[in-house]
Amino acid sequence: MKRLLAMLLALTMSAALTPCARAGELAAPRTLTLIIDAGHGGEDGGAVSPNGLVESGVNLDIALRLERLIALFGAPCVMTRDSEEIAYTAETTRARKVEDQKRRLKLIRDTENAVFLSIHQNKYTSGNPFGAQVLYAPTRGSEELGKDVQNLLTATLEDGNRRAAARIQSEIYLMNNIDCPAVLVECAFLSNAREEALLQTESYRLKLAVILAAGYLHNREMLEDIYFGESENGVLLH
Ligand SMILES: [Zn+2]
Repeated sequence: MKRLLAMLLALTMSAALTPCARAGELAAPRTLTLIIDAGHGGEDGGAVSPNGLVESGVNLDIALRLERLIALFGAPCVMTRDSEEIAYTAETTRARKVEDQKRRLKLIRDTENAVFLSIHQNKYTSGNPFGAQVLYAPTRGSEELGKDVQNLLTATLEDGNRRAAARIQSEIYLMNNIDCPAVLVECAFLSNAREEALLQTESYRLKLAVILAAGYLHNREMLEDIYFGESENGVLLH
């Protein structure tokens, strides 16, 4: 944890304590904006652990911790949701899910120079599988970001995780309909008793948030190059 915090400190030039923007208050052009997506929410709780731990609440808690860390480092960010309540206009559950996905998609598309980071928890039919896994979108920069975040998760959590970052399945709607660099982080398995217990602790959720913040900040230059171009940065040096 100390190593990670030191890394976070080294990655920032200024630590302006500006709060993250909400939807509609977007950052100035030529600055990256991290879109933090707490997966599920509202009527969609996501996966549920054998002891009743609901994915959407865990995702939101990690997302809010990540938001505070990113704000501490003065980096612009936007949340796709900041509570468990989601306002719907559609009437059926199915239509409401679609409405929510479209709302998130619009936020991503309306955000200039966006980098999308979605937080989820995994679940399997047996209790054996464990370990964080990063899935990346088929867009530029996503694979590099995803592999780096995976390495940080594996190295920092030191849980014997052998999972590798992988390209997201084509049926995942949001991740396959956006143009920006994007990763989806399956932080842990709700179906694994050890990880389920860890996810209930504040310290583990904070640890996950710190790793995700470090992963994003560590890759900011690479991600800026995607939007603003290496040649332009080169010109600035002359
Ligand atoms: Zn999920």
